[in-house]
Amino acid sequence: MIVTGTLCGSAAPMSVDIQGGRIASIRPGLAPDALGGADTMISAGWHDIQVNGYAGNDCNAGSWGIVSPRQPDLDALTLDLARHGVALFCPTVITDSSEAMEHSLRRIAVAMASDGPFRRAATGIHLEGPFLSPDDGPRGAHPLEHVRPPCWDEFQRLQEAAIGHIRICTLAPELPGAIDLIERLTASGVVAAIGHTGASPACIRDAVAAGARLSTHIGNGCHAALPRHDSYLWEQLAEDRLTATMIIDGYHLQPAEAKVFVRAKGSERTILISDAVTLGGMPPGLYAEGRFEVKPDGHIVLAGTPYLAGAAALLDACMANAVRWTDLSLTEVIETVTHTPAHLLSAQRKGAVREGYDADLTLFRVPSEGPLDVIATIADGVVVYRRDAPQ
Ligand SMILES: [Zn+2]
Repeated sequence: MIVTGTLCGSAAPMSVDIQGGRIASIRPGLAPDALGGADTMISAGWHDIQVNGYAGNDCNAGSWGIVSPRQPDLDALTLDLARHGVALFCPTVITDSSEAMEHSLRRIAVAMASDGPFRRAATGIHLEGPFLSPDDGPRGAHPLEHVRPPCWDEFQRLQEAAIGHIRICTLAPELPGAIDLIERLTASGVVAAIGHTGASPACIRDAVAAGARLSTHIGNGCHAALPRHDSYLWEQLAEDRLTATMIIDGYHLQPAEAKVFVRAKGSERTILISDAVTLGGMPPGLYAEGRFEVKPDGHIVLAGTPYLAGAAALLDACMANAVRWTDLSLTEVIETVTHTPAHLLSAQRKGAVREGYDADLTLFRVPSEGPLDVIATIADGVVVYRRDAPQ
């Protein structure tokens, strides 16, 4: 299969030959009768390292009383994400009882061993919880009855249920035992991420010294009001050993916050994520016995309040926002969802359009407004999504 168009960061059109799931060659010039065309941009496949669910399909089985209208299907989730350009993602399991979390992890691990689209797209599991702050604000929407102190034995049980697929663990470093857990996670090759925390700046420094490498959705899962000086937010923004994930959807981060945070971390330490939830992409209305509302523009709130209840915008929208609201160029925005997440996860042969690399590609156009316009999404050499009758 050949795809053709302009590679991000280069001006001339190229043709990319895909064979056996790998990029076999990249040659100058447009190829006739190929997927793409003169007005098509080609990048490495967009990689979202925090996806809880989308459009009624959930990586968590029935968590938080959000009952999916249909049987959760991880292959269907993969196809829905691919329509928005997401070729690769980390299915994310959130705070719940041990039994419920192990059940969700087992289900994901089984799907990763199957032969469907999910296997080609899933790059590892993101465990967000249960070792999170119990305080209102930092805890976000994670249920108080299920957050608990860090425990290596419990993490090992969860990792066993996941058949070793947990690659990122988000935790609050101020909890008893957290620094020890960060050291053990790091030694076992799992990325320790700081999130849903009310830690002191000194504790953030201890977490980084112990091996923490990531700040999860910086600016969210924190107190509504922060001290002017001693703030975990400043400490993480200033710490160059921490890469930060950001939800640039206009709700979780507004334009000025996104611009400032990206400037603080630099393009090479910024990863855009969706943090999408199962109600994302659902029709407007009330869900879960009226507890949640999907608003007409798609964002999700606790019904009757202005409080966000999960994210709904996928990378095609968040990337377009980043181009418009921050100093990042399109090429730099692409890096935040390709090279940088691949580097974080030590994913060999991913994150770039390069001969010998895995054929994970996203083909798109850049409209003057709205989300990036996805033409096709390819994972592991297989076309997962192709829009009919491209212009
Ligand atoms: Zn979170």
